[in-house]
Amino acid sequence: MVLTKSSQELYGEYTARMQKIADVKYSAAVLQWDQETYLPPKGAEFRARQLATLSEIAHEWFTAAESGQLLEELYGRHDLTDDQRRNVILSLEDYNKQKKFTPAFVRRLSEASSRCFHTWLQARTTNSFAVFSPELQNMIRLKKEEAELAGYEQHPYNALLDQYEKGATVSLLDKVFSEVRQPLRQLLDRISGGRPVDDQFLRGNYPKQQQWDFGMELIRQLGFDFEAGRQDLSEHPFTTNFNSHDVRITTRVDEHDFSNMTWSCIHETGHALYEQGLPAEYYGLPLGEYASLGIHESQSRLWENNIGRSYEWWQTVYPRLQSVFPKQLGAVSLESFYKAINKVQPSLIRTEADEVSYHFHVMIRYELEKKLIEGNLSVTDIPAWWNEHYAAWLGVTVPDDKRGCLQDVHWSHGSFGYFPTYSLGSFYAAQFFAAAKNQVAGLEASIGQGDTRPLLHWLRENIHRWGRRYTSEELCLRSTGKTLDISFFLGYLLDKYDNIYKF
Ligand code: ZN
Repeated sequence: MVLTKSSQELYGEYTARMQKIADVKYSAAVLQWDQETYLPPKGAEFRARQLATLSEIAHEWFTAAESGQLLEELYGRHDLTDDQRRNVILSLEDYNKQKKFTPAFVRRLSEASSRCFHTWLQARTTNSFAVFSPELQNMIRLKKEEAELAGYEQHPYNALLDQYEKGATVSLLDKVFSEVRQPLRQLLDRISGGRPVDDQFLRGNYPKQQQWDFGMELIRQLGFDFEAGRQDLSEHPFTTNFNSHDVRITTRVDEHDFSNMTWSCIHETGHALYEQGLPAEYYGLPLGEYASLGIHESQSRLWENNIGRSYEWWQTVYPRLQSVFPKQLGAVSLESFYKAINKVQPSLIRTEADEVSYHFHVMIRYELEKKLIEGNLSVTDIPAWWNEHYAAWLGVTVPDDKRGCLQDVHWSHGSFGYFPTYSLGSFYAAQFFAAAKNQVAGLEASIGQGDTRPLLHWLRENIHRWGRRYTSEELCLRSTGKTLDISFFLGYLLDKYDNIYKF
C-alpha cells in the first residue's frame, strides 16, 4: 500500500508521527520539570506512574512496526530533499536502537528512576548513602541489562556512553583523559605552590532576592529569551525544553555563597541558548534536536567559563554587580574579583569546582561507573572507593556522603555514561571559542563592552542551527577546521592561570 504513495506523502506521514511522539515526550518533560521544582512530596507516587505511562506510550509509538515500515520505505526513496533524507536516516538509526528495548523494560526503567530519585532526596536529607544503596543497586542492574539489550563492542559501558555521546567509547575516553591528567595535575601542583588568592568576600552575606534579581538580569543580558522560557529554583540546577520556544532553566541560591547562583545561572543559560537556537521548524525531528550532550555541555561551559570567568566580560558587568552589592563588593577591585572567581582549590563538590580541578571530579566518576558496570565494584563499596579517590586525586577528605557520593542527581535518574560529556564539553568549548575569536573580527572587544551578541551569532550559525545534522566530531571539524584537539583546552587553561598565579 505504501508503494503507491508519493515520497512527499510518506514524508508527511513520518513528520506527523514523529511530532505526535514529541508531543507525548515533551508533555512528560513538563511533568518531570514540575517534579523537580514544585511537586508536593505526596504527589510523587502518582507522578512516577504518569511519567512511566507517557514514556511507555512514546516508546510504543516510536517502536511500532508501522514506524519501522515507514522509515524503511522512506530510506529507499531517492527523491527526498537533503534535510528530509538526513531526518529519515537519523530516525531510522534511533528506531533500530530503540526497538531493542521492550515497552515493559522502558516502563521498569522509568519507574525505577522515579523511585531512585526520591530515595536519593531522602538519602541526602538523612545524609546516608545506605538509604540510597538498595535503589541504586536495582538501577545498576537495569543499566547492565540495558547495555546487554543495546549491544556493544569491547565494553558494556560503551553502550551507555553512546546514548549521550554518539561514538564515544572507553578506549577514546581513556586516551583523552590520559592526555589531560598529567598536565592538569602539574598545573594544580604549580598553583598550590603559588601566591594564595583571597575569595572570602564571595562568601559574605548576599541576600537571596538580590542575588535572584541579579541572576535574572545576567540571563537576559546574555540573550536568554524570556518570551520563550523561564527560570525557577530547584535542588540541582538543570535545563529542560519542551520545544525551542519553551526552554526552562533552574538555579539555586545560597545566601552565603554568591558564586553558586551566578555561575549556575550562566551555565544553564548556555544550555538554554542552544535549545532556543535549534530550528523550530524541525520540531519532533532529528534536525530540531541537539547534536550530543558533549556539544550541549560545550555551550554551557563556553558561557560559564570562557565568558563568565573572563576578565574582559567582567570589565563592564562588574561595576553593575558592585552597585547591587556595594557593602559586599564596593571595596573589592576588579582585579581581585577576577582572581577570586578563578581561584583554584581542589574541593568536594563537582558543581562548585574550578576549571582545573573540575576534570578530576569527572575522571573519578568515570572510573567508578566503569567499575560498577563491569561488576568490579559493589554498590555498598561506593562511599569508601569515592572517599579514597578524592583523597588520592584531589587531596581532600570527604566528611560525609552528602558532600561525597550523594552529591549528584545523575545516578538516581539512571544517567550512567553522562559525566564524561562534561569534560568533553569543556574541551570542545575551548576549541569553539578559539575558532570564534579567529573568525569574528573584534569579538574580544565586543565582549569587553559586555556585548556577547556577536559570539551568540557565531554559535547560532556554526552550532545551533544544525541540530543533529552532524556528529560532535563533524560539527567540530566544520566549525573549527579540526576534530577535537585537547591542546586548545590546555593552552587556554595554562595561559589563563599563568597570568592569574604569575608562576
Ligand atoms: Zn551542563
